[in-house]
Amino acid sequence: MSIKNLHLDTKNNILVTGGAGFIGSNLCKALLENGNKVIALDNLATGQMKNIKPILEHANFNFIEGDIRDLNTCHDACKDIDYVLHQAALGSVPRSINDPITSNAVNVSGFLNMLIATRDAGIKRFVYAASSSTYGDSKALPKVEDKIGKPLSPYAITKYVNELYADVFGKTYEMDTIGLRYFNVFGRHQDPNGAYAAVIPKFVLAFMNHESPIINGDGSYSRDFTYIDNVIEANVRAITATNPKAGNNVYNVAYGERTTLNELVVLVKQYLSEFDSKIGTIDVKYGSERAGDVPHSLASIDKAKNLLDYNPKFDMKTGLKEAIKWYWENLER
Ligand code: NAD
Repeated sequence: MSIKNLHLDTKNNILVTGGAGFIGSNLCKALLENGNKVIALDNLATGQMKNIKPILEHANFNFIEGDIRDLNTCHDACKDIDYVLHQAALGSVPRSINDPITSNAVNVSGFLNMLIATRDAGIKRFVYAASSSTYGDSKALPKVEDKIGKPLSPYAITKYVNELYADVFGKTYEMDTIGLRYFNVFGRHQDPNGAYAAVIPKFVLAFMNHESPIINGDGSYSRDFTYIDNVIEANVRAITATNPKAGNNVYNVAYGERTTLNELVVLVKQYLSEFDSKIGTIDVKYGSERAGDVPHSLASIDKAKNLLDYNPKFDMKTGLKEAIKWYWENLER
């Protein structure tokens, strides 16, 4: 996608933490294409150099290998920066259940370091990756920003604490922050490998290897699956938003439609069958439900539409077709 039509005031210096990860690397590329200078900070815990290989030699790109748990690293990375897009974190609910201490150190202490470094550098706006997991056990659908439940996992706690810190820093130090509550993002560069892989790349990889994908539970759980280019748009809108009410707020970032896992797996299979007809014959397997999973998730995106002018272009099916084409052409197998 080109973000040229989003009217980003070009030639900004933008720091993308987690810039070698799935979302971060996509942000770096889109921002460079739009004429900005981009610095990526990443410790490669889950991110990979191959995600940023095509932009490594770009004259306006700089990569810092470093850890947000180190305050000096955060201070150094924030020098001469106009905007921060903070994506670095340890994702995955199961990872946080297995190792809550590391998730907390990166997602809470690391976040706090980045807020302090942003404050000290006098950066114009701190935009950060929040999460739909903050809705926790709230059963209300669609999810509206000011009605959250209790967190269901250590990961969800860390993401909620981020919002609390950002709010307090906004009030206490007159900072400008925007939290983007991403809903199940998918697309190019999302890692299909490992125990903590997200569901779409996991299904794609299984089918491409002619193996049965495993659905946790009975497949009735649903998600507002959000294509990466909608997330890029939301970040750019968050940087450029001039509405006086836009700052020091959190927003749902989604498409605003939900799909069950059973519906999803049928679509993945159908789209992949166009490349490899054998995939059409592979059956799905069902496993046990996972602890900490929210049954249903669907966003209201009215707030982002109204205050950020966010207008997502990719519905789930259009995005899924794009993602599957990318995996077919790029996945090592
Ligand atoms: P990712 O794992 O691909 O990216 C995270 C990046 O952060 C990785 O490159 C990793 O190496 C880096 N990182 C981790 N610990 C670090 C540390 N201590 N110092 C520096 N860098 C570190 O995951 P993603 O899906 O791209 O997620 C990006 C952000 O979006 C995260 O904050 C995540 O919590 C949030 N989020 C993602 C989704 C989703 O569906 N993918 C949903 C909600 C929120």
